[in-house]
Amino acid sequence: MLTLRSKALEIVQSRGTVAIQKPSEKVSDFFAKNVFTDTSMQAFLSKEAYEAVTDAIHKGQKIDRAIANQVASGMKNWAMTMGVTHYTHWFQPLTGATAEKHDSFFEPLGDGKSIEKFTGSALVQQEPDASSFPNGGIRNTFEARGYTAWDPSSPAFIMENNGGKTLCIPTIFVSYTGEALDYKAPLLKALHAVEKAVVDICASYFDKNVTHAGASLGIEQEYFLIDEAMWFARPDIMLAGRTVLGHSPEKGQQLEDHYFGSIPPRVFDFMVDFENEAYKLGIPLKTRHNEVAPSQYECAPNFEEVNLAIDHNQLLMDVMDKVSAKHGFKVLFHEKPFAGVNGSGKHNNWSLITNTGVNLLSPTKNPETNLQFLSFFVNVIKAVHDHADLLRASIASAGNEHRLGANEAPPAIMSIFIGSQLTHVMETLFANKKTTNASKGKAIQVINIPEIMVDNTDRNRTSPFAFTGNKFEYRAVGSSANSANAMIVLNTVMADQLQKFKQETDALIKKGKKKEDAILEILKGYYNSSKKILFEGNGYGEDWVKEAAKRGLKNIKNTPEALNAYISKSSKDLFVRNGIFNERELEARYEIMQELYVKKIDIEAKVLIQLASSHVIPSGISYQKNLAENIQAMKGAGLTRSDYSMQLTLLKQISAHLTTIHQKIEEIKSELDKAHHIEDTHKRALAFCKKIKPLFEPIRNNSDALEFVVDDELWKLPKYREMLFIK
Ligand code: ADP
Ligand code: MG
Repeated sequence: MLTLRSKALEIVQSRGTVAIQKPSEKVSDFFAKNVFTDTSMQAFLSKEAYEAVTDAIHKGQKIDRAIANQVASGMKNWAMTMGVTHYTHWFQPLTGATAEKHDSFFEPLGDGKSIEKFTGSALVQQEPDASSFPNGGIRNTFEARGYTAWDPSSPAFIMENNGGKTLCIPTIFVSYTGEALDYKAPLLKALHAVEKAVVDICASYFDKNVTHAGASLGIEQEYFLIDEAMWFARPDIMLAGRTVLGHSPEKGQQLEDHYFGSIPPRVFDFMVDFENEAYKLGIPLKTRHNEVAPSQYECAPNFEEVNLAIDHNQLLMDVMDKVSAKHGFKVLFHEKPFAGVNGSGKHNNWSLITNTGVNLLSPTKNPETNLQFLSFFVNVIKAVHDHADLLRASIASAGNEHRLGANEAPPAIMSIFIGSQLTHVMETLFANKKTTNASKGKAIQVINIPEIMVDNTDRNRTSPFAFTGNKFEYRAVGSSANSANAMIVLNTVMADQLQKFKQETDALIKKGKKKEDAILEILKGYYNSSKKILFEGNGYGEDWVKEAAKRGLKNIKNTPEALNAYISKSSKDLFVRNGIFNERELEARYEIMQELYVKKIDIEAKVLIQLASSHVIPSGISYQKNLAENIQAMKGAGLTRSDYSMQLTLLKQISAHLTTIHQKIEEIKSELDKAHHIEDTHKRALAFCKKIKPLFEPIRNNSDALEFVVDDELWKLPKYREMLFIK
């Protein structure tokens, strides 16, 4: 009988390229074609409705019902010219995936007549049957309803599927009692908080013309691409997103021949195809290339305002997944689909930009404006230093544990890389007594930072949080994550820190200090009290673990413990003080994340048990049978023990592997049973982390050893080389 593996290999080898339908030769012809852009709004909305929407977008003003009706009707008319029949509120519940529930514009009027209708209330608010979205106990008893509410700051768009087109309206998702049940609601609050703090500082100290500001985000997305047939033949990838077994191939990434290498034709076609779909949705994709590991790739858009960038990234993952099916591929967003080769991240390039067009994290040659740069730069260092635990928590997940923290993964120490030039500038300004005599007005002249940073080229790839010329790159975010978690935390801690900076500086000015001196004095204090978080060396090395411990930096290894930072006294104060989360929301989110961790490890454990029981053990036994028969035959032919000693040794080796696998399966089963009975979610998560996960390793090691010796014909699961090197 053909195994799934051999079938998959046949399919892969006979695959050809798929014809791509290009919407047009030029991207600019169809970019944002499926978005209700400013131009379409002007064409389809009354002047009054258009102004109401733009005010809502730019000033956060509310839209009243009458106007909402007009907007809805204009949106519907636009959508219908594009062939749209349905609409949906599009939201981001805490499952990590996006959610949609489609309704038709079509309304029967009786007597066989009907119209297409879309009302203001359907645009503004919906009540999806929300009882099966994670809520962490918020909607547990009497109030099971939640509602979605329109976010006008992210434009409506049209999702195209083979069967038809749907108008999608980005929304927040909250409980009836007002608590956030999604990523977007708290994100919008955090972005609002940081804007307020930034504007306050810029307008008071640097430039009165600054009336608005925003955080910018460019998300680099890494992913693996494997053939769909392989995916079907690997239940672990299909169900858990990663391989729980698999001997590493003789060739991995050691030759470093994949990074920036030429893109295989089938992959290239897939890329072009999903990029075109993304362009139609207004996602400004800019780069594509091979990543370090075999079959690993990356794409990155131009940066956008954070909320939009995150919507676009969520949408992009969805589009990539859909388009991959057409090409016989499966996109893997898991942080570590394959052991022994690099994992995938989602690098969050983040900065702060004013309405006057100034990137506040971009150093300039002008000493005056560099004081502004310096203020924001040092405040980032201080905010990350003071809230390192929370930032660590914001990227914690079962998948990302393989990239940071867990066994064999690099350490999960929060540190910042700023490069040698800026280190020099900081040290001269703030640590060297001679040049920091700010009161003589000399210090400002020292803030001379070359515009083109040398460090752009020698950047540190092992830093979880790196300054890369004119932005910070938060690289620790997992490839499958919704970036909102990281962005909620980063923007909240920044907002909070910037407010403190403003208060402390104002206090000095009030005491009679010159503005520049006051700013420098405060920054000097910040720099010196937080510089222990700066690290320029190899963040993956053992030395750093020791050094970081000496510096008093935390190295929180696992997800359940990392998540504790969300509910510490200081985090609660921080979030409540800034109006981002109330305590109940934080507790709920914490609960949901711990539960999600449990569910993920539970699935992995079950898949591992299943694969080991029904694939690995039978393959081992089949091979043993062959060996035993071979020994019998040799005996029958009159050969002696020394002639078949190799076969005997192999037989014994296989027995030993099989016995261990079997024992460990039994252990996992009993540990699973125990863990599921632990009432407290955090303790349950810890049991999955510390009792169950470690049992994966001996099973895997013994299985991989078997894979290495068992007759290739008898091995039923596609091997690493087949998944990673056949394109
Ligand atoms: P690299 O791989 O060298 O880090 P990429 O070009 O792949 O560089 O990605 C850089 C990302 O940073 C892009 O998404 C880009 O739009 C984004 N970016 C550039 N400037 C800013 C900024 N001021 N704010 C936020 N993101 C930015
Ligand atoms: Mg990068």
